[in-house]
Amino acid sequence: MKAAEPKKKPVRGNFISAKTNSIVMYIDMNSYFASCEQQRHPHLRGKPLGVLTYDSPNAAVIAASIEAKRKGVKTGMRLQECLALCPEMLTITTHPAWYRQIHVDIMLILRKYCDDVIAKSIDEASMNFTSYRLVYNDFTAIARQIKQDIKDKYDYLTCSIGIAPNSFLAKLATEIQKPDGLIEITPENIDGHLAKMQLTDLPGIAKNNERRLQMIGIRNPLEMRHASEALLRKAFGGIVGNYWHKRLNFMEVDVYTNPFKTMSAGRSLGRQIREDKQAMDSMLIALCMRLEQRMVKNQVFCKEVCLHLRYFNGGEWDTKIKLSDPEQDGMRIRRYIMDKMQEYEEPRNISLLNDKVQKMTVTIMSFVKQELIQYGLFDNQMRQDKIRKVIYEMKDKYDKKNIIRKGSELLVRNVLKDAIGFGSVKDLVGNDGEVVNKHMLEEDEDFY
Ligand SMILES: [Mg+2]
Repeated sequence: MKAAEPKKKPVRGNFISAKTNSIVMYIDMNSYFASCEQQRHPHLRGKPLGVLTYDSPNAAVIAASIEAKRKGVKTGMRLQECLALCPEMLTITTHPAWYRQIHVDIMLILRKYCDDVIAKSIDEASMNFTSYRLVYNDFTAIARQIKQDIKDKYDYLTCSIGIAPNSFLAKLATEIQKPDGLIEITPENIDGHLAKMQLTDLPGIAKNNERRLQMIGIRNPLEMRHASEALLRKAFGGIVGNYWHKRLNFMEVDVYTNPFKTMSAGRSLGRQIREDKQAMDSMLIALCMRLEQRMVKNQVFCKEVCLHLRYFNGGEWDTKIKLSDPEQDGMRIRRYIMDKMQEYEEPRNISLLNDKVQKMTVTIMSFVKQELIQYGLFDNQMRQDKIRKVIYEMKDKYDKKNIIRKGSELLVRNVLKDAIGFGSVKDLVGNDGEVVNKHMLEEDEDFY
């Protein structure tokens, strides 16, 4: 075939091939904290309810029930302000352990349908059904079944489910219909949905980005979708513009992307190392840190980790670990590996890292781009929980005189800023930056 005339590339329209073969389902629980309270306290059902971190007229409502939202109450409003809009609003203070319990039960329900489930926050999860295309033939029916399963367990809870060929559009689909929504975004209907939205309705587009887009003449999501990749690059000042173009045109850039499928770090072990348990552990750390370095350099996080051990007698041992959260930290990756080894070693009373190991290789895969985590599109509250947990453990342990105060407060402030956009861990931190519900921070281990 003769080469097409490259200069006559269409300015508008899809010249990227859409990958409509992927199937992603996004689940967003409706008015989560408030609904959890109404689940537990039937007398609060059907009533406007505000959830507070502490009981005071100055407290901010961190979650409002569906009924309160209908009266104009919004997340983050001061209690006084809410009562002016809706004088009959009832209030209750948070019960994080209860919200976490329900979260765990919902995750268990989701994992019945699909292996590839990621918790995006305490009330959101995404499910990648791409490899289930031949297993299920009607994903809308699956979504309805999931809603029913959740209802069977917690009759007062509803969720909005979005289905789309990529995770961004699946999340967007959950925004279209609330509460109890079920929307599938397809190449046929996407323009109709986008036509009803404003730029700031797109998760990840706040005021700043809206201004950038308006400056180059893009006024709404529909114009954004049909803008050229080059124009969006200009608006966002680089690769982020390409991502936006792909996202709105059915390409997946938010979960797994090339150019690399895996990264490995491996070493053959000399005798001195083999015969020294501590040296073997140091080698494992070195391999994990090497991978951390490469991930940092390539600005990615991984979702899967493998360890492969080869022994002199020809034997092998390997394990593959699916991480609940994208990970970049070498020491945490090593921890996951150690736990997995221990799980194998203990009942058998053996040691995998023994003097017969010839070669040790750590491989990581399923990469997620860093900016997706930084920009909070796929914000990862669990990770922030963990960082904070460590910091607060330190604070509790060593900081009798508030020596570490400055650093931890800085971090808390960041976390708080992130949380405001997504409304999931606000109950952790009060207005003065102090942890309000310490027990919530102490339950991470049970989480997955
Ligand atoms: Mg929600």
